[in-house]
Amino acid sequence: MKAAVYPGSFDPVTVGHIDIIKRASKIFDRVIVLVMTNTAKSTMFTEAERVDFIQKAVSCPNVEAEAYDGLLADYCREKGVYITVRGLRQTIDFEYEYQIAQVNRYLEPEIETVLLYAADGHGFISSSVAREMITRGGNLRNIVPDGIIEYIEKINNGGKNNG
Ligand code: ADP
Repeated sequence: MKAAVYPGSFDPVTVGHIDIIKRASKIFDRVIVLVMTNTAKSTMFTEAERVDFIQKAVSCPNVEAEAYDGLLADYCREKGVYITVRGLRQTIDFEYEYQIAQVNRYLEPEIETVLLYAADGHGFISSSVAREMITRGGNLRNIVPDGIIEYIEKINNGGKNNG
């Protein structure tokens, strides 16, 4: 059985991420969406909330989501899953992704990174655009999955993210 892990901050998950998840789920028998906390970024949503968003937005039977607080290489060794999936939008993503792939292979030479190109029209979609909409009251439609827009807004209106 071929399994792959799709790591990211997913703060929050966007339609761009969902597209990558669905496509990866057709290539691999099992896809683990791994919510990580990038130490260089502070997040709007907690790990539990970010996992919850993915679980609510994805219904593919071979996709699961969980959080991991550590290095991806350690997770891969722990689980015996050595394929990682990442998404590529513009050329600027390439250098960042290349660097991450090199670090991961330095830490664990068994790791292979599979890059999937963003779908047409998804090039501008990012979690930071979603966060900007959430903070400024913009329309989240076509940025985050329809099914979780209200839920995200409810959590945000709960107070913690309102400053
Ligand atoms: P990170 O903080 O690790 O970069 P993100 O949650 O921002 O995590 O992104 C996770 C992965 O999804 C990255 O490989 C990123 O390039 C990819 N990605 C982000 N947005 C899109 C999109 N709109 N279409 C395709 N891939 C995307």
